Amino acid sequence: MKALSIRNLTKSYPNGVQALKGIDLDVEEGDFFALLGPNGAGKTTAIGILTSLVNKSDGTIQVFEHDMDQSLEAAKACIGVVPQEINFNQFEKVQDIVVNQAGYYGIPRKQAIPRAERYLKQLDLWEKRDAPSRDLSGGMKRRLMIARALVHEPRLLILDEPTAGVDIEIRRSMWDFLREINVQGTTIILTTHYLEEAETLCRNIAIIDHGRIIEKASTRRLLDKL
Ligand code: ADP
Ligand code: ADP
Repeated sequence: MKALSIRNLTKSYPNGVQALKGIDLDVEEGDFFALLGPNGAGKTTAIGILTSLVNKSDGTIQVFEHDMDQSLEAAKACIGVVPQEINFNQFEKVQDIVVNQAGYYGIPRKQAIPRAERYLKQLDLWEKRDAPSRDLSGGMKRRLMIARALVHEPRLLILDEPTAGVDIEIRRSMWDFLREINVQGTTIILTTHYLEEAETLCRNIAIIDHGRIIEKASTRRLLDKL
């Protein structure tokens, strides 16, 4: 099954910038996929549309065969997103941030609490569970973003520049964690402008530039060409 199927996705901002100029993209279930491109290519716009924060101008998107125009709630339930901007309430406690997110998806607290514990332990944040998020380091905040995005157990996890500004050691441990959940069955799409991140982690890569996909290939084929 396809985790994501995008056709002719187009976005013009009110100021006239054409951020996406007709994107076609398919991502298979189980894939670890990179959307690679320079700043300004349209990556964040694409993710904004996938998370309903940005309105598309044209095109269709299906998430595990749920059309985002026709079955938005079903599509959203399949997606977990780690945005680029850290956006926690700085006074809210780490564990509450994860548990409360589950409420947006109608998941009972009783079910959310053990899940939050599991993800906080896996992401090495359990000792910080009672700390307000403002006490966390940058790398911890990034990991908390991932825990929050997983609490409804999405089939597709989308990360926008997940390791931007994170030091190398924490980056490696985040990579290991993402590999692990991919092996366990979660489809992953990340955006990055680091070729190294795409080639280390991802099985397939699409290169986006100026709002167009200019290359799509398996990582191995792409590296042979470069
Ligand atoms: P990336 O994430 O690849 O850096 P973006 O999606 O952020 O790319 O940006 C794509 C293009 O759209 C850029 O030219 C950017 O300046 C423009 N853009 C992004 N957001 C807005 C906005 N809210 N209003 C107008 N233009 C925008
Ligand atoms: P803030 O006022 O700081 O945006 P919110 O309580 O509105 O705080 O949101 C906290 C987090 O939950 C944000 O990351 C936001 O993206 C996410 N969120 C808010 N509303 C929803 C929703 N309806 N479904 C899924 N996530 C949501």
